[in-house]
Amino acid sequence: MPGAAHGRHVPPRRSPRWSPRLAVRLALVVWGAVVVALWWFDTAASSVRGAGPAMTAAGRVSGLLAAYLVLVQLLLMARIPVLERAVGLDRLAAWHRGLGTNVVLLIVVHVLLTVWGYGLTTHHQPLSELVTVVTTYPEMWKATIGTLLFVAVGVASARAVRRRVSYEAWYLLHLTAYLAVLLAYSHQTATGADFVGHPVNRLLWQGMYLAVAGCLVVWRLVLPAVAVGRHRMAVERVVHEAPGVVSVWIRGRDLHRLGAVAGQFLLWRFAARGHLVSAHPYSLSAPPRPDRLRITVKATGDHSRAIAHLRPGTPVVAEGPFGHFTAEHASRGRTLLVGGGSGIGPVRALTEELLARGDDVVVVHRVSRASDLALWQEFERLAGSGRLVGSGRLVVHRVVGSRRDLGYDPLAARFLVAAVPDVAERDVFVCGPAGMTHAVVRALRGLGLSGKQIHTEEFTLR
Ligand SMILES: Cc1cc2nc3c(=O)[nH]c(=O)nc-3n(C[C@H](O)[C@H](O)[C@H](O)COP(=O)(O)OP(=O)(O)OC[C@H]3O[C@@H](n4cnc5c(N)ncnc54)[C@H](O)[C@@H]3O)c2cc1C
Repeated sequence: MPGAAHGRHVPPRRSPRWSPRLAVRLALVVWGAVVVALWWFDTAASSVRGAGPAMTAAGRVSGLLAAYLVLVQLLLMARIPVLERAVGLDRLAAWHRGLGTNVVLLIVVHVLLTVWGYGLTTHHQPLSELVTVVTTYPEMWKATIGTLLFVAVGVASARAVRRRVSYEAWYLLHLTAYLAVLLAYSHQTATGADFVGHPVNRLLWQGMYLAVAGCLVVWRLVLPAVAVGRHRMAVERVVHEAPGVVSVWIRGRDLHRLGAVAGQFLLWRFAARGHLVSAHPYSLSAPPRPDRLRITVKATGDHSRAIAHLRPGTPVVAEGPFGHFTAEHASRGRTLLVGGGSGIGPVRALTEELLARGDDVVVVHRVSRASDLALWQEFERLAGSGRLVGSGRLVVHRVVGSRRDLGYDPLAARFLVAAVPDVAERDVFVCGPAGMTHAVVRALRGLGLSGKQIHTEEFTLR
């Protein structure tokens, strides 16, 4: 059993006076305005008179904005610690996803308006103008391939298509977006009216691309590679916890330098067949120690199922930590933790952290069958030996049975308040299947808890 004494003690956090998330949004909007200003200041009013020039001008603006937003999308997923702390990886992923549709639309609008505008000005049909542009303008064939790749990535990311494609296939196609960015870049500076003959604009634009490329190289390649050498992580053992649920103990050096705390997750890649293509997010299910980390994984698909077959000694690469499902967000000294399915992993880690801090903790462990109660012996031990892990007090409620068999939702507001009468005075952390999480949050809001009291971790990133 990992000792809490090794974990980094996490005191409650004082609420900041300003929202870091809002600051990031504002910075992105201001920078977007600077990009549009590039066009505004070097475009004479007389040059946009008439349908053709006006359309071309609108095409230029949409092109500039599309390129800018693509860079923002890359920046959001560059794993920059300050962004992750301010916004959270789950929300960054949601912003990235949300921008995707707009970017593809802007690219299509850019092509249509620019070509149509040229056509009107030169009195050519749009289709023949398109052929002329693609075949005779410098660097345009590359931009055309880039555009087709962007559209393909956009279509593959549409919800209806995404559901039908395996994560790995979607991920590999998604990676071609980097190629699309490279291919589309040169036509901007070679033909863009805002750059040809405008060395300052050109420098600014190149600087923007270089800055984003630098962030990606540093945080997605160099630092993870350095961390591999520094921490030398490897699988120590795999422990069966419940049907389809295993814990993986990972040993390594100087793991405290990762800066992880209980409740956070990392992106894990195991050097074994079937595990190399993409990194998967799994939360720590025990407070981190300088030489050991633990994750608890439920088999839901190819990757998570194969985790049970990992051999001791398998090298491990981990990126992170990420996430805000942590003790620093609990400031009331009294906490309710609700864990369902594999969501019990981060709840387990957080319980020990909060007890070590002296909090009064209630855990609700929700499962469909009694055999699914993973880690319950550890909760028993924590409840029985509160003093060993601090001055905190722990009560555990096990809620067993599917809603269909029970005929009601045992996590509905009236049951929550019966089990935890002072629930409205507590910080509440909820982690589990999306349906359960949303239902519990609704119940808590119905009981009068504020949004600031409720903390959730959703197990979906894309
Ligand atoms: C922040 C976070 C923390 C998580 N912590 C845990 C945990 O502690 N224990 C646990 O059992 N599960 C956890 N998960 C869920 C776990 O990551 C997925 O169940 C696992 O990646 C599924 O992969 P698969 O190939 O087995 O299943 P698939 O059938 O391929 O995928 C099932 C679903 O999982 C998601 N998914 C798959 N691969 C990835 C990936 N590489 N990155 C992001 N999402 C992916 C997708 O939504 C997909 O639709 C967590 C997820 C997130 C986002």
